[in-house]
Amino acid sequence: MNKNETVRVTIEDLSKTGEGIGHVNGYTLFVKDALIADTVLAKITKPKKQYAYARCEKILTPSPDRVEAPCPVARACGGCRLQELDYAAQKRFKEKLVLDSLTRIGGFGEEDLHLKPLLGMDTPFRYRNKAQYPVGMVKDGERTRLAAGFYAGRTHNIIETRDCLLTRKINGSITEALLTHMKKYKIPAYNEKTGKGLVRHLLIREGFQTGEILVCPVINGMDFPHADEFVQSLLALNQQSKDGQIRSVCFNVNTKKGNVILGDTVIPCYGESWITDRSGGLEFRISPLSFYQVNPSQMEVLYTKALEGALLTGKETVYDLYCGIGTISLFMAQKAKEVYGVEIVPQAVEDARINARLNRIQNAHFYAGAAEDLVVSGKFDDDTPCPKADVVCVDPPRKGCAPELIETIKKMAPQRIVYVSCDPATLARDLKLLAGGENATYRIESVQPVDMFPQSVHVETVVLMSRKDT
Ligand code: SAH
Repeated sequence: MNKNETVRVTIEDLSKTGEGIGHVNGYTLFVKDALIADTVLAKITKPKKQYAYARCEKILTPSPDRVEAPCPVARACGGCRLQELDYAAQKRFKEKLVLDSLTRIGGFGEEDLHLKPLLGMDTPFRYRNKAQYPVGMVKDGERTRLAAGFYAGRTHNIIETRDCLLTRKINGSITEALLTHMKKYKIPAYNEKTGKGLVRHLLIREGFQTGEILVCPVINGMDFPHADEFVQSLLALNQQSKDGQIRSVCFNVNTKKGNVILGDTVIPCYGESWITDRSGGLEFRISPLSFYQVNPSQMEVLYTKALEGALLTGKETVYDLYCGIGTISLFMAQKAKEVYGVEIVPQAVEDARINARLNRIQNAHFYAGAAEDLVVSGKFDDDTPCPKADVVCVDPPRKGCAPELIETIKKMAPQRIVYVSCDPATLARDLKLLAGGENATYRIESVQPVDMFPQSVHVETVVLMSRKDT
């Protein structure tokens, strides 16, 4: 197969990154923008020995699940890989993704998994409470111009986005206000190649329940010119806002080269440098650097499942590893004896402690550090010995849990383990260590996928395990 060759192919499956998979003359093709049951003309973009990447040039026969993407830049932007797939079919794709990972990578039989149907959203748009828009120069014919938006898939080319359909409408006006201010005072966007220029990203966070909005440009320096005027232009947006109200403006300083979006320093400018949100009757403080689930309505669905599975009676000692700002910990603390949260980002631990106080919860304790260091060493960061746990909840980032942490959890032998995962592949790897094979200590009670990220290829899963001897 040669580069730029065009072939006709019928798509049989979708890859986990959302490309259509088809076969031509023994070659496997991964076709961008093609869906299962589409027949397309595909143009080869990257030929390899046994497979090739391709782009959908023309749809010859559309899939019955194909819909028109509501967003005009859905194809160009790297975020919504599934927007052209009907939502019911998106849900089937994600259920299959979880099943395939657990059976293929985890080696489980389908009968061992007790896989439940994915819990999706009624309205799968405008669900995100957080957005990080890269700011930079885009080509406009012969010239370049300032823009903000999202990166195109696998590149750092900015696709200008005025109204991303996953976020609230006010985000477009906030972005516009920033670009207008930058143009007025000739404030340069950051240039990734040279490391020069000031504005790198625009972070916006919103508490959907409280309506509080935080605006935080990420800057390559300590000073943002005419910041007061910028704040005034933002506050003017509050008058017409049908979404929330801008309550806080701060700047995040990131002077390091590379792909990491946020730096460690936050300079407050207007209001507090955090917002609050409510969920499940609890109040949470959220700082710019802390992790908070981006889909708050599905977050409640997810945490409710995690809590149900923990089967708490009020007597249990619970670990919430990778606890962020303590959301799961505080959900569980209301039903457990003691909860110990461990989190690597110090600001998030600070938020978690404040959140416990805010909600008058006294039986939740938070420790800063890597779960695999603290729990494996048997001591928290203040030298308190780690107590024995009845229930362990883990909610790691995509890379999953460190193997030594899994070993320590097995030695601790809690009665139940709740694994909240955002990556089916690393989930499958870790479950194999906990519940794989005849002699495993744990059995899987249920696997519950939850759609936290409609239109994207990502899926969240809650797995409940219990000790076989209980
Ligand atoms: N349970 C929380 C956060 C989940 S996201 C919630 O639902 O909101 C994963 C969290 O793990 C992030 O807050 C991240 O900062 C943290 N983290 C990443 N690596 C870690 C490690 N090695 N040890 C402890 N926490 C870690």
